[in-house]
Amino acid sequence: MANELVLIIEDNDKNRKLARDVLQASGYRTADSETAEEGIRIAQERKPALILMDLQLPGIDGIEALGRLRADPQTRTIPVIAVTASVMTEDNQRIVVAGFDGLQTKPIRVRDFLQAVGDAIARAGNRPA
Ligand code: MN
Repeated sequence: MANELVLIIEDNDKNRKLARDVLQASGYRTADSETAEEGIRIAQERKPALILMDLQLPGIDGIEALGRLRADPQTRTIPVIAVTASVMTEDNQRIVVAGFDGLQTKPIRVRDFLQAVGDAIARAGNRPA
C-alpha cells in the first residue's frame, strides 16, 4: 500500500528530513514546508492524505493552523497528526481538545510513527463522506 501523499510541516531541518526519509522508505510520497502558512497553501493545492503538524513554528503555530485547515471545506477532512517535543500530559490534553487526529512526540520512534500515519490515513479513508 502506501504511495499516499503526506505533508510534513516542520521548521527544524533535521526533524523534517527524518520524517521525510522514514515516510519515503515506506513508500509514501511527501511534500514539506517550514511554515504553517505555506503548508496550508500546499494542503489546498495538493490535498494530501495526511498532514504531520509541528506545533511550534515561526508565524502561526500548529494549533492555529489546524483551525484554519478545519475551517476550509477544501482541507477540513484531511487528518492531521500533531508532532511535538513536549511530553506534558496537560499539553497532550490540549492537543486532543484542539481536534488533532493523533499525537507524536519528538524524537519520533519510527515504528510507532509509521503505525500512527497508517492508522490515521486508514481511518480517514473509512470515514463516510
Ligand atoms: Mn518547531
